[in-house]
Amino acid sequence: MIRCAECGHENMDGLEYCDACGAKLPATAAPTPEPASVDLQADAAGSPEAVAVSAPAETPPAPVGLNAVSLKAKLTITRGGTVGKEFVLQTGDNLVGRWDPDSGAFPEVDLELDDPEARISRKHALLRVAEQLSLEDIGSLNGTFVNRGKRLEPGSPVTLNDGDEIIIGKTFFKVSVA
Ligand SMILES: [Zn+2]
Repeated sequence: MIRCAECGHENMDGLEYCDACGAKLPATAAPTPEPASVDLQADAAGSPEAVAVSAPAETPPAPVGLNAVSLKAKLTITRGGTVGKEFVLQTGDNLVGRWDPDSGAFPEVDLELDDPEARISRKHALLRVAEQLSLEDIGSLNGTFVNRGKRLEPGSPVTLNDGDEIIIGKTFFKVSVA
């Protein structure tokens, strides 16, 4: 470091002018090599952490199975909304509902524009894509139905198959599973 005679700022070696005040700095003295003893001490103080870091990390085996078999699922509106509109489902949970920041509803399957009468609850149902596709009503007002059967019990997921029809509020969907 080069100490500025004007302001006392410690400047990096090699600078001609002070970083802080701009005053001309004295010429840099040739850097003195670090005493060997310092290096030795540093080595001797080598911490166990340093050793652990240098050891080769164990590589976990590539995941096989569960993730590989998650299926591709899609909903198509067949009646009641924007007929023909498709929703491609993500792996994992897909919230079905209507977008509403006030209530913290940010559904993956957002039917805000397809449900002008608001028959669909903001948080209506959950579609889960894993080894199978399942549908669960999460306490909707107007209900969730599969193949025109009886209303789903909230909190009890049912498995869906390719070609199933589901009714959410008053909007009809065809289920595609591949
Ligand atoms: Zn200075």
